[in-house]
Amino acid sequence: MIATSLWKQLKNLVDCDKKTTMLAEEIKDLGKLIQQDLQALEQQAKTYAAQKTLLLDKQKAIHAAELQVNTLKDKEQHKRKQLETAKDQKIYKGLEKEIHSCNTERNELEERLMQWWHDIEILKSATETAKQTHEDQTQRLENDITHKKTTLASCEAALQESVATRINVIKDVPAEWLTRYERMRHSVNDPIVSTVHGSCSACYYAVPFQDLSKLKQGELTICRNCYRFLYYDDQAGQNASTAA
Ligand SMILES: [Zn+2]
Repeated sequence: MIATSLWKQLKNLVDCDKKTTMLAEEIKDLGKLIQQDLQALEQQAKTYAAQKTLLLDKQKAIHAAELQVNTLKDKEQHKRKQLETAKDQKIYKGLEKEIHSCNTERNELEERLMQWWHDIEILKSATETAKQTHEDQTQRLENDITHKKTTLASCEAALQESVATRINVIKDVPAEWLTRYERMRHSVNDPIVSTVHGSCSACYYAVPFQDLSKLKQGELTICRNCYRFLYYDDQAGQNASTAA
């Protein structure tokens, strides 16, 4: 009777360990995915900030150029007034030259400003698009992170539960079987298998008669070929016979 429950206990242990491993992997993957989302969020913010800087720099440049145009206008006006009262031919020529130079510089600046005003409209529109993209993607990433964190929290809770279950499951498993199991679980995925038609269901090695009769009494044996734990499941045996 105790032996019968042993294979069931071990099977529970296998299930429990598989679940724990699966949960641990899921937690690891979720952690990575959250990290990727956070990096994407950071990148997104940087891209938008760079676009805003482009716009701001252009606005500053325009403002500076506009001020310069006004300064040149004032200077030109001042020189023209001086010109009206100039008595000396040399001074007159000099002022004319200065006015011409102011005028040329102002024209160049105004030409540049025309281009910049055109540029800034394009930049404003691009920044508006970038803002929309930034807001949409930020929202999407933040939702994604929240969702993943919720999943992560439930995985972590399930993992804790699984660890607690294991303590309960191994409580009645004899130490020698536990040691054997610990050795086996890292080499195969299915350390405990049933016998089907008198053979190991994993490697199909025929179970010797004396082992088979022990199995039928509910004992646990070890496959002499693949070293997996073998058990005999009455119900499964019947099902297999019916299927065959
Ligand atoms: Zn086997």
